[in-house]
Amino acid sequence: MTILSIDQGTTSSRAILFSEEGKPIEVRQKELKLYYPHKGWVEQDANDIWADTLWACEEIISDHEGIKALGITNQRETTILWNKNTGEPLYNAIVWQDRRTADVCSSLKDTGVEPLIQRKTGLLLDPYFSGTKIAWILDNVEGARVLAEQGDVLFGTVDSFLIWRLTEGRVHATDITNASRTMLYDVVEQRWDEELCRIFNVPMAMLPMVKDNVDDFGQATVLSQPLHIWGVAGDQQAAMIGQACFEKGMMKSTYGTGCFALMNIGDEFKVSQNRLLTTVAYRINGDITYALEGSIFVAGAAIQWLRDNLNIFKDASESEALALSVEDSNGVVFVPAFTGLGAPYWNPNARAAILGLTRESNKAHIVRAALEAQAFQTYDLMDAMERDSGINSKAIRVDGGLVKNKFVCQFLADVLDVRIDVPAVTETTALGVAYLAGIGAGVYRDFHDISDRWHVAQTYSPQMDDSVRSESLSLWKISVDLVNR
Ligand code: ADP
Repeated sequence: MTILSIDQGTTSSRAILFSEEGKPIEVRQKELKLYYPHKGWVEQDANDIWADTLWACEEIISDHEGIKALGITNQRETTILWNKNTGEPLYNAIVWQDRRTADVCSSLKDTGVEPLIQRKTGLLLDPYFSGTKIAWILDNVEGARVLAEQGDVLFGTVDSFLIWRLTEGRVHATDITNASRTMLYDVVEQRWDEELCRIFNVPMAMLPMVKDNVDDFGQATVLSQPLHIWGVAGDQQAAMIGQACFEKGMMKSTYGTGCFALMNIGDEFKVSQNRLLTTVAYRINGDITYALEGSIFVAGAAIQWLRDNLNIFKDASESEALALSVEDSNGVVFVPAFTGLGAPYWNPNARAAILGLTRESNKAHIVRAALEAQAFQTYDLMDAMERDSGINSKAIRVDGGLVKNKFVCQFLADVLDVRIDVPAVTETTALGVAYLAGIGAGVYRDFHDISDRWHVAQTYSPQMDDSVRSESLSLWKISVDLVNR
């Protein structure tokens, strides 16, 4: 028995076939182009997203019969508006990283609505989320608002757009984790919110129906082997499911382009007092679970920068040997705030810095400092999470491209003073929705079946001396404070 997952990410569109045991059998992937039409703008061609996803699915389907179900996970917040009658996008997809609505967000902040938004959505007023992106398209594409007011425009995050196309326009739906990132969805009442739609000037008729993570999302009839879509979740929530973080206090952290740490906080919504986000972790059979989320915009992207802009190495994997070639960073601190600082600082105007350089500093120190920054940034998130939740995590389950780097994993364990667990299957995002779809199709009974399938491949325990830890943390704090001005 097999299950197909679509993993539509920021940098690529993939389809992965999983066995019932949760092992990846086959992967097809296409890189996705990003467009930067103006400073701070980030777009993608929604038709490319669709064509690449369809291609990846068909490549796998043509080789495998009897696939039991289809799951979808996706880059969250990225916003697509399309014409209900023609199916054509009104504008490019505006990607989550896009900052074009920063001014709109700060004017809204001046009106004092942020506490209300946070109380209803768990989010902070930031261009990151979909709400202001939707309004931007409506107000900047000729005729869009009139068309929307006639009820001829549909909005969706990428999952929703893919579901609509896969079902040939029969299903306009999303799941609750994706809905919870739009800034229009009340995660406490669990419904689209009229007041928020008014604030962001978004007609409610264009919003998709919101479903559980395991639900009937329709039959993907456009595929040469029609598959039923039984599971959908945003990428970070899907990773949390793939990592089997089903108990209160369990935490996962993903290190890809950015870093996203989520802690399961159970069924009670709680507004963060430390500038983290509260988000929906999952909802199954109508039972909701929330998570605290810390988002860091630059993690692996800093390693890419060292590779592509400074040409220090050809391949990211070389960073490990370079970092280990020196005893420590020799006082060098790298604050990778290339696109501002994310949680818990939320300063879009901050910029990256390399501090503490001396005549002895060399490229190994700088590389080491960039890798160490991953742990320091995570420390700031964990600290905020512990203060919000009162929960002291003993272990973190990690995944993403960066966890191939053993130095990073050990340094994480050292600085956070917790155990770091790397699972056997690190494709946790795609795996998470394969599991959800599998529950929907009756392959698995419930989350217990998923927990049973989670296996640790490698564990890292803290080894750092307390005095070294506190010294490096205070140096980091001074450096971040300098950048965050
Ligand atoms: P995404 O899903 O966001 O595209 P991935 O999870 O594929 O990202 O991770 C890719 C990132 O991980 C890149 O930014 C790359 O620089 C970094 N990376 C990959 N391998 C290593 C390594 N061995 N050491 C350090 N960084 C790495």
